[in-house]
Amino acid sequence: MNDTIASISTALGVGAISIIRISGNKAIKIANKIYGPKNLLLVPTHTIHYGHIYDKGNIIDEVLVTIMKGPKTYTTEDVVEINCHGGIATTNKVLELLLENGARLAEPGEFTKRALLNGRIDLIEAEGIMDLINSKTEKSRKLAINQITGDVSNLIKKLKQDLIEVIASIEVNIDYPEYEDIPVMTMQMLKDRILVIKREVAKILKASENSKIIKEGINTLIIGRPNVGKSSILNKLINEEKAIVTNIEGTTRDIVEGTVNLDGIFLNVNDTAGIRETENIIEKIGVERSLNLIDKSDLVILVINNNENITNEDLNLIDKTKNKNRIIFINKSDLEKKFNYDFSKKEKIVIGNVINDNGLDELKKMIREMFNFDKIEKGDFNFLSNARQISILKEVQKIINDIELGIKQKIELDILQIDLIKINKLLGEIIGEEYEEELLDFLFSKFCLGK
Ligand code: GDP
Repeated sequence: MNDTIASISTALGVGAISIIRISGNKAIKIANKIYGPKNLLLVPTHTIHYGHIYDKGNIIDEVLVTIMKGPKTYTTEDVVEINCHGGIATTNKVLELLLENGARLAEPGEFTKRALLNGRIDLIEAEGIMDLINSKTEKSRKLAINQITGDVSNLIKKLKQDLIEVIASIEVNIDYPEYEDIPVMTMQMLKDRILVIKREVAKILKASENSKIIKEGINTLIIGRPNVGKSSILNKLINEEKAIVTNIEGTTRDIVEGTVNLDGIFLNVNDTAGIRETENIIEKIGVERSLNLIDKSDLVILVINNNENITNEDLNLIDKTKNKNRIIFINKSDLEKKFNYDFSKKEKIVIGNVINDNGLDELKKMIREMFNFDKIEKGDFNFLSNARQISILKEVQKIINDIELGIKQKIELDILQIDLIKINKLLGEIIGEEYEEELLDFLFSKFCLGK
């Protein structure tokens, strides 16, 4: 990490300005070699300088150079940013000159990795930076910025602090049982304190449920027999002719996808092959895939034809999707009602038809209610939003349950202590106090160049 790195930080293409960033203890020295007229080694920190970039006496570009000496910089090292004219040729040439003069080309995410390794940010904040760059909606932007400000990290740090206090008091009890002035850690006390931590973990996980929806959208599956109107509903939802709509049974053989932006939350909609008993091989594969997709979806829209009575295939689908978040759309209400089935009162049902745009607003309203859009809107966005972080916290939750069981079974304190230490290590992994080199390499490889 002692070498000086350089990279183009703006998107490479035609634009007014490009920024090339350099970080490391030779950053200013290297920039100074290709810049004139001032001596950048003598200028105060956090200042901007007008001048030119030279290559063997020839002017390459007219630039503004920002000098930022560590530690108050993005990486905590000396950082120089060269604002040159945009466009591929100039930007590449400036970078090339820096590399010729002693800088190394940065790997993706290496600036942020240095910020982490130098202790300026933790892993949650680093992941937040990546999420911020990748966010496509206002809500996912809010989610990411909360990670960067450290508010989310503080939730985990607070948990860790509470846990360390428990671990420390048990340690003292185990190591110095002969001292009378040490408060005794009883099983009851441990039980109470573990309960507080358990509630906090559950609270954070509950709040984090929304984050998957905000970041990744709601995986929605439109399912039903052939010809009930699945593709037509998808088309209405995405407002474009993406799915092939025909009235020959089994035409939507494969899975058609579309994305619907519902108040800033994406519905990733899959329109599936019609489900029916079939001998046609291609259609069969499609049907199998649709059934697999039920498992993976967050929401199932089961479409049924109002103009036909219920069939065994409908009943089969009603059964297969009964444990999912489900909305039943009884389509073709413009045609005579032939459908007859008593759904339970709790079932979420929309009766409508695509011909007159009937029921689609109600369908969207139901989705909003089902996934608590209101709450997401008003929420403070202060929760874990990253799959890695959430899965570690779920592991923590499991171990807490084991500890509670251990307390009930009156297991020795020093054995419970092992689990408590395990939890402490996992919480450390969430914020990056503990990490494997490979994990960091993997995380940062997903960053863009120059960040
Ligand atoms: P899928 O096989 O379930 O995807 O069904 P499609 O969307 O391909 O529709 C099958 C046929 O039903 C097409 O001819 C559609 O125009 C027609 N259809 C779809 N929805 C309605 C509706 O609400 N009312 C009527 N009358 N016809 C519809």
